[in-house]
Amino acid sequence: MNLSRIKTIQEVTSTKTNRVIYWMQSAQRIHYNHALNYAIELANEKNCPLMVVFNVIPSYKEANRRHYVFMLEGIKEIEHAFRALKIPFKLAFGDPSKNIMAILKQGDLIILDKAYLKHPRSWRNDLYKNIKDQYTMIEVDTELIVPVEVASQKMEYGAYTIRPKLHKQFDAFDDYETLPTYQGKYIELKSDVDLNSIKDFVKTLPIYQDVLETPYFVGGYQEAKKRLKSFIEYKAKNYLDRNAPGEHVTSTLSPYLHFGQIASLEIVHEIKKAKEENLIDQAIFDGIFEQVFVRRELAFNFVYYNHQYDQFEHMTEPWAYLTMDHHQDDYRPHLYTKDQLEKAQTHDPYFNAAMQEMIFSGYMHNYMRMYWAKKIIEWSNSYKEAYEITLYLNNKYFLDGRDPNSYTSVAWNYGRHDRAWTERPILGKLRYMNDKGLERKFDMSKYIKYVESIKK
Ligand SMILES: Cc1cc2nc3c(=O)[nH]c(=O)nc-3n(C[C@H](O)[C@H](O)[C@H](O)COP(=O)(O)OP(=O)(O)OC[C@H]3O[C@@H](n4cnc5c(N)ncnc54)[C@H](O)[C@@H]3O)c2cc1C
Repeated sequence: MNLSRIKTIQEVTSTKTNRVIYWMQSAQRIHYNHALNYAIELANEKNCPLMVVFNVIPSYKEANRRHYVFMLEGIKEIEHAFRALKIPFKLAFGDPSKNIMAILKQGDLIILDKAYLKHPRSWRNDLYKNIKDQYTMIEVDTELIVPVEVASQKMEYGAYTIRPKLHKQFDAFDDYETLPTYQGKYIELKSDVDLNSIKDFVKTLPIYQDVLETPYFVGGYQEAKKRLKSFIEYKAKNYLDRNAPGEHVTSTLSPYLHFGQIASLEIVHEIKKAKEENLIDQAIFDGIFEQVFVRRELAFNFVYYNHQYDQFEHMTEPWAYLTMDHHQDDYRPHLYTKDQLEKAQTHDPYFNAAMQEMIFSGYMHNYMRMYWAKKIIEWSNSYKEAYEITLYLNNKYFLDGRDPNSYTSVAWNYGRHDRAWTERPILGKLRYMNDKGLERKFDMSKYIKYVESIKK
């Protein structure tokens, strides 16, 4: 592993390590998890026991039934896999600031996977403050191919500024080695959560229960691998048509990436293999590499260096605020409330279909996400209101919501990482999209038919 992934938060010099604990949080997987590999290596080297702990938080900000079921499907798989690998795994349940603290105190060398968004970063900071000076704490950046602080030390302006930096570093961070065998003693740890019936367990949580689990996405690494395999075998060759909403040629791996159930580095390795086996050509490889590496890591750069990434007043560029100011009072022929938008009650069949796709499947095609968000700008009283509604719906229904990509992509609709376009009413210099454009470029009847087919 490239050692630049590892950051020692604090180090206590002691002659003996009694136990290594890995608090798994962002990287909910066994494969391509540098933090796990490092924890096993340290335990082996120090000849001491290892414990991996995952803590289920009873009510995670903005997470609802759909998100919990998907996440726990992945965790159930991990629990079985750790048992088979003879690695002690503790599934804990409770407030991380109290619960996890007590568990972590059973060890003296603590490994964490790196976090990029505010809330998980704040738990880590609480932990650092609370158990300061008593434990060695090490953070491992494993969600990104190039660690966020290595790629850049500042908020980047756009894909064109971060791309050369990322490309230059790729080979140095193409560094995954296979999972080491844990040489310590195996003890089966009692779980705080019974995952035999995930749905029954989730019903007991104090969370929003009305966004139901979706039959179109089952959580877990095995399912992610199946999707990756079928993407490579059947869809990737047509990836250059990825903008066409009815064609379904993208990987649909974003929910799995969001929960850390699969690593982007593994995806890149598999598409590299596909290129070597001539299943895809260079142009297709480049297209996928750009999205899963450059665009995704640009999104992480944005949330990491802009602490107000979810605040309307701080999420975009000065030119974009200026143009919105100029057009705030423009006449808006269609205005819809949040409720009407959420119920897909607009005059626009494409918007309504997109809204229903997200409600029923927990996912939406990328091009329709852009169109959907642009229409909310056009049909709301103010840009701030539109931004807040978009983020609310995005994070409520998408399985990949509440992700660095969510905040960055929604901000993109307001000019972040984009450029000024020809000025128009309402959108001003923000990029504009309309239904005629959709119809000109794509067979939209296919998309409408698809959404009809998934509605229950
Ligand atoms: C308004 C709006 C909201 C969005 N909200 C989210 C969100 O909540 N969560 C989320 O993960 N993505 C979001 N996106 C970005 C993008 O639409 C999804 O990542 C993509 O559609 C996921 O589908 P896929 O896995 O089939 O993509 P693929 O085309 O198969 O790409 C593979 C991976 O590359 C990354 N990727 C693909 N497209 C983009 C992109 N445009 N920007 C950054 N990374 C990308 C994703 O991690 C994706 O899973 C949003 C885009 C817009 C315009």
